[in-house]
Amino acid sequence: MLADLKKVVGREFVFTDPQWELPAYNDAYLTTPAELHQPSAAVAPANVEELQRVLEVARHYKAPLWTISTGKNFAYGGPAPRKAGYIVLDLKRMNRILEVNEKHGYAVVEPGVSYMDLYRHLQKIGSKLWVDCAAPGWGGVLPNMTEHGVGYTPYGDHVTMQCGMEVMLADGTLVQTGMGALPGSQTNHLYKYGLGPSVDGLFTQSNFGVVTKIGMWLMPEPPGYRPYMVTFEKESDLHAITEVLRPLKVNMLIPAVAMTVEMLWEAAVQVTRRDYYTGKGPIPESVRKKMRSDLKIGAWNFYGALYGPPPMMDNTWEVIHDAFASIPGAKFYFDEDRAKDDVAWQYRKKLGAGIPNMTEYNVMNWIPNGAHMDFSPISPVTGADATKQYELIRDRCNKAGFDYCGEFAVGWRDMHHIFCLTFDRNDAKQKARANKLFGELVDAAAAAGYGEYRTHVDFMDRIAGTYNWNDSALLRMHEKVKDVVDPSGILSPGKMGIWPKSMRKGKA
Ligand SMILES: Cc1cc2nc3c(=O)[nH]c(=O)nc-3n(C[C@H](O)[C@H](O)[C@H](O)COP(=O)(O)OP(=O)(O)OC[C@H]3O[C@@H](n4cnc5c(N)ncnc54)[C@H](O)[C@@H]3O)c2cc1C
Repeated sequence: MLADLKKVVGREFVFTDPQWELPAYNDAYLTTPAELHQPSAAVAPANVEELQRVLEVARHYKAPLWTISTGKNFAYGGPAPRKAGYIVLDLKRMNRILEVNEKHGYAVVEPGVSYMDLYRHLQKIGSKLWVDCAAPGWGGVLPNMTEHGVGYTPYGDHVTMQCGMEVMLADGTLVQTGMGALPGSQTNHLYKYGLGPSVDGLFTQSNFGVVTKIGMWLMPEPPGYRPYMVTFEKESDLHAITEVLRPLKVNMLIPAVAMTVEMLWEAAVQVTRRDYYTGKGPIPESVRKKMRSDLKIGAWNFYGALYGPPPMMDNTWEVIHDAFASIPGAKFYFDEDRAKDDVAWQYRKKLGAGIPNMTEYNVMNWIPNGAHMDFSPISPVTGADATKQYELIRDRCNKAGFDYCGEFAVGWRDMHHIFCLTFDRNDAKQKARANKLFGELVDAAAAAGYGEYRTHVDFMDRIAGTYNWNDSALLRMHEKVKDVVDPSGILSPGKMGIWPKSMRKGKA
């Protein structure tokens, strides 16, 4: 089979060396043994024609492929396949920016285009369009969208901003969705739905096809950008912050994804745990207090931004300021109030304007050999839910001996709670504890009616199992679709709990 793949893409784009090449296709942040996710090879086609032939080879040998684009899905499994032995289908060479449409505000990209690539390209051509990026700027515009990823400008809900998709089915058929199905259409990247069922969502967080191209709406540079931060003194303020925030978000006074960030996240991007505490277990309150004072942060830290003409920003700010000022101890900051070397502020400021960077990776420096998995349940935007989720996670996390490090990202109507479970990747016992804790969190969250919005490869079946209404009708429907669109079961078996018929009994 490898010989056949080499004939398609060339020898240099089939990777098989277990020592030098394949470790790059595993997850550096696993809590389970690396052997469970070690691919047997990786193949990198350069274009849709080569991709078509790679799929033909895979169908012939009934070989499972694991699709990645930029391959940086760390915290959720990185490039690692669901099971050992798969061949990673690496689309990094399909990295053309096919169009930037200044007039209508969109770009069309292939899978391997990173946020940094698109940002640099827009700068180079003098575009007045912004990128909306996930915190790690090396992530991909297309794969982050297919993972339902989130950014930090008003265009932060990436699935909402995607318009027009090209996808290759397992049998090699290339499909244009929406208006793209109409030859000569001028509106492929302007109107999302076309005629008949809208199918783009079927190809996100899924294994029903390989997405080869998408349109993404890009935000025109606004006449003004004024990021702000509000700090809150008490842990218990989370309830009030969330209640104040909801109407501001729903009424679009806060247009970007709004972030309520717990103090340890803020600390971890700029100092290490050892700088403050060398004892075991969660950091005591006395130490946390000192950190808050040293770093000029609150127990909770709210990040938002004003966008628009200055008079409009002034008016909006009055409303936002007055709303948050109702919480005793709230302190307000603009750029001029934060230090130039305030690492946390500076990278959030960039994210709010869609400037890709990698600063958030600093959180891993919190402990030696730091690694992390994200546990990310969704909830309504209410103080009661925020507090309930926070306590549910914090208490279990502290009991397991880990520091709570988390943030709440509020979108149009929902709240993503991102708990960054940080552990020492060289400490087998700690990894086992982290793995156990994660499983407990999945069950406890589900029992309280909370489900995760995406997850690590090790927990896909477990979490898919919690979405089990009406005898798992949704999963059974996904399986029916899988059997029809990929009868050989070659595309990413097990992605989000969806297995092809031939492997259903073999779930890990
Ligand atoms: C410190 C830190 C901060 C993070 N912050 C954020 C954040 O702010 N927002 C956020 O969204 N995420 C965040 N993440 C998670 C993750 O790093 C990003 O989502 C990243 O963009 C995902 O990696 P990628 O874009 O390279 O996707 P890839 O690794 O290329 O792909 C991810 C998955 O998408 C699917 N996929 C990829 N390509 C295709 C395709 N062509 N067709 C069909 N399916 C495909 C596959 O299942 C693949 O496993 C963070 C992670 C870390 C470690």
